[in-house]
Amino acid sequence: MNLSGKTAIITAGASGIGRVIAHRFVEQGAQVCLCDIADDALAAVTRELPSAIVLKADVSKSSDVAALYDAFLARHSRLDILVNNAGISGPTKRVEDITDEEWNETMAVNVSGQFYMVRKAVPLFRQAGGGCVINLSSVAGRLGMPLRAPYSTSKYAVRGLTDVLAVELGEIGVRVNAILPGLVDGPRGQRVMREQAEKRGMTLEEWMPFFLHNISMHTMIDMKEIADVAVFLASDLAPHISGQSISVCGNFESY
Ligand code: NAD
Repeated sequence: MNLSGKTAIITAGASGIGRVIAHRFVEQGAQVCLCDIADDALAAVTRELPSAIVLKADVSKSSDVAALYDAFLARHSRLDILVNNAGISGPTKRVEDITDEEWNETMAVNVSGQFYMVRKAVPLFRQAGGGCVINLSSVAGRLGMPLRAPYSTSKYAVRGLTDVLAVELGEIGVRVNAILPGLVDGPRGQRVMREQAEKRGMTLEEWMPFFLHNISMHTMIDMKEIADVAVFLASDLAPHISGQSISVCGNFESY
């Protein structure tokens, strides 16, 4: 699964799943450009991946996205892979308690951010004669997730965007797929589980077995497994995989 000679942009690549994807891509020989909004995490990943272009950019702002592509093009003349990983959890609330700001912010990062990123990538893919887009959705984009209406809705939208782009960009040789992680063992997964437990008046220890019962394999997912699927999709081993929503969730059956 070699990515030698390929260039990749990874959003939210300074921590969590994006950081692990960035490491795997560099290990596989890709030249990586990543962005994030968290200064400390950006500084840390700059030290970890000295070969990468590391930029501060908020994907929900089209002006930041334009500046990111300018910085990328100052160093590289072609783009092969875009990993639209940035996504926020949004509020854990009943739908009637969600504010306009909470709804709009979740859509801005999780949906508009992917649109802004891919819109700028298309001319580069056309110039390169092909490309690959990997959009991070979620199992919450396949199973409606209670108390998380903005997040779950945004992740269904990511699958919709993926399906449209796969058709529209297929004719210029661009493959577009979505990865749908289940509950990932990382900082965000832990935080979300704590919030879900609190909302139900349960401790984390009481809530976790209850939650994991809905997953056939009863386990959380290692971030490396998500990164490995991203490497496979981006590699020459997947030349005709496009328009797919690939769940990596241990068979998550219901919430
Ligand atoms: P995370 O919460 O650990 O955050 C990763 C990074 O995103 C952080 O460094 C943060 O600074 C950055 N970020 C936040 N808003 C940004 C913005 N507007 N522009 C650029 N960067 C921004 O996230 P994660 O758990 O690594 O999740 C990565 C992706 O996978 C997300 O799209 C998420 O929805 C999806 N996902 C995660 C899980 C899980 O259990 N962790 C499950 C399903 C799907």
